[in-house]
Amino acid sequence: MDYRLDEILNRDFLEKDHLIYLLSLNNENDIEKLFNKAYEIKTKYVGRKVYYRGLIEYSNVCAKDCYYCGIRKSNKSYKRYTMTDDEVLEAAKAAFDYNYGSVVIQAGEIESEAFTNKIVKLVSEIKSLSDGKLGITLSLGEQTEEVYKKFFEAGAHRYLLRIETTNENLYSKIHPADHSFKRRVECLHSLKNVGFQTGTGVMIGLPDQTIEDLANDLLFFREFDIDMIGMGPFIEAEDTPMFKDKDRLLSKKERFNLALKMIAVLRIMMKDINIASATALQAIIEDGREQGLKVGSNIIMPNLTPVKYRADYQLYDDKPCIDEEASKCRHCLDARVRYAGDEVGYGEWGDSKHFAKRK
Ligand code: SAH
Ligand code: SF4
Repeated sequence: MDYRLDEILNRDFLEKDHLIYLLSLNNENDIEKLFNKAYEIKTKYVGRKVYYRGLIEYSNVCAKDCYYCGIRKSNKSYKRYTMTDDEVLEAAKAAFDYNYGSVVIQAGEIESEAFTNKIVKLVSEIKSLSDGKLGITLSLGEQTEEVYKKFFEAGAHRYLLRIETTNENLYSKIHPADHSFKRRVECLHSLKNVGFQTGTGVMIGLPDQTIEDLANDLLFFREFDIDMIGMGPFIEAEDTPMFKDKDRLLSKKERFNLALKMIAVLRIMMKDINIASATALQAIIEDGREQGLKVGSNIIMPNLTPVKYRADYQLYDDKPCIDEEASKCRHCLDARVRYAGDEVGYGEWGDSKHFAKRK
């Protein structure tokens, strides 16, 4: 019997060495104990409801060149696309008709007046077509505080910007020299200043990433008092500079398991935040997102991107459901969520309870 594990799981406040201990668990019974505790805390603090954010992958045009990402600007093997306004509104309408509470608009990173104006217009139109009812999350990378403010005033109220890793040295290894960790953090501060429910996250299983790095990531989330997290396994993407590292990574299954542990430990640390089951979990294990629900996550992002664009928005290899219509995915996902023991919070925004308290 491991008394240390019980003692740690019942602590009010986890210190760094506790996090390292939990992330390093390798005995199946111990891991199950961790997962059960996380699910118990989820049930108690945020409930067994899963909120949907219909994902609209608006454009794969990107000005950045992150070494890990399939749609980085230097990757010439993708046809670049941007959805038409009608296609975006149709996808949002589908979300509304399916009674999803919210949509996420995600895209490569473009900083330009034309892009800003376009997003402002789309956000306002989605608000009006749904009578203000659809919640809108944006995930459009680094922008100035002024631009974030415009997005917010147009009606978006959540924003996701992953820090990717809080180890600055590792950050500089996975990005070209003109990508700045400092700016990333500044952007997160701007998002909070503007009033967004602010989300971040990291990739798990990056080359040379240690358990201590991951513990530091968790500490960063707590120190930053973040409202929402989306984190998942790093998955090598062909035609990217980091594809060459694929043979020195943890196995995909190990990255998956580590991602589940990160979710569970985070749920124990930050009881009332929203945690997404990243799609990358499903790229490794078919029911990966549902397994995420069982260890503490409470958000899923069903894909609403028109099928004709999906193959061109592959941030990583083996991205699931690239040829499946949203209408088909819908029933299958609902059944899976129920099977996992949760229910879907249809028609609800499912905002971060933590954000409500923070305000
Ligand atoms: N351009 C925006 C949004 C799209 S990218 C941005 O960068 O914020 C969204 C997320 O996809 C990134 O934050 C990154 O964490 C994730 N991602 C990109 N490539 C990945 C890979 N190879 N494996 C796992 N996740 C990846
Ligand atoms: Fe562009 Fe985002 Fe991919 Fe970086 S992670 S290359 S910013 S889409």
